[in-house]
Amino acid sequence: MSTFSKNIRMVIMGAPGSGKGTLTSRLLKKIPNIHSLSTGDILRKEISQNSSIGLKAKEYIARGDLLPNEFMAKIVENELNLNKWLDGKTSFLLDGFPRTIEQAKELEPVLKPHNSDINFVVELNVPPEVILDRIANRWVHSSGRVYNLQYNPPKIPFKDDITGEPLFKRPDDNPETFKVRLDKYFSELEPIRKFYESKGIYHVVKGETSDIIFPQLQALVEKQLA
Ligand code: AMP
Repeated sequence: MSTFSKNIRMVIMGAPGSGKGTLTSRLLKKIPNIHSLSTGDILRKEISQNSSIGLKAKEYIARGDLLPNEFMAKIVENELNLNKWLDGKTSFLLDGFPRTIEQAKELEPVLKPHNSDINFVVELNVPPEVILDRIANRWVHSSGRVYNLQYNPPKIPFKDDITGEPLFKRPDDNPETFKVRLDKYFSELEPIRKFYESKGIYHVVKGETSDIIFPQLQALVEKQLA
């Protein structure tokens, strides 16, 4: 395990199914002092608890739609404050946020007063045909653990490796909803890329599998931290 002198406040960008969750958990195993926050996981937890946020989120997610920008920005701001990550010293990773240029802009005044600006953005660039194939094979556990029936199957079919509980298909992984989500991702990507490129903090890692992408991601993150 390595120790680093600098900190990283990063955003991981990628189409649904590009491996954001998988790569994030691999990265956190190697560099455990980075905290992570996934807006998709937060919303799914709220849905499972039938909270007011969950009830609102459920409708949008089922359609493949994005939730309103301000609503999401507020959720993220609350989480960052609650976790006390905005001290300029804590390293954290945002997975699934910002997803629009408006969200990227909403985030700035939340972070800036705490000297906690985003200083590293990485885009996972995976060919769309690979993503579609992956989604067809994606099964998940309620904890957020993700399996792929082809590349990363559970030890016992359709059961979680850790708890033995059943796996399920995400309701928004059906082909129609998935296409909406994928189109939305690509239409939002360009302005966000330009926004972070202009700050000189945008990086791209490319590949068909997480095994190909992971070493690139790890090397970039370690360079940033060194
Ligand atoms: P994910 O697990 O990141 O694919 O997120 C699942 C769903 O949650 C998305 O399809 C959206 O409906 C919703 N969601 C997650 N993050 C955001 C966000 N930053 N802005 C708007 N909607 C979001």
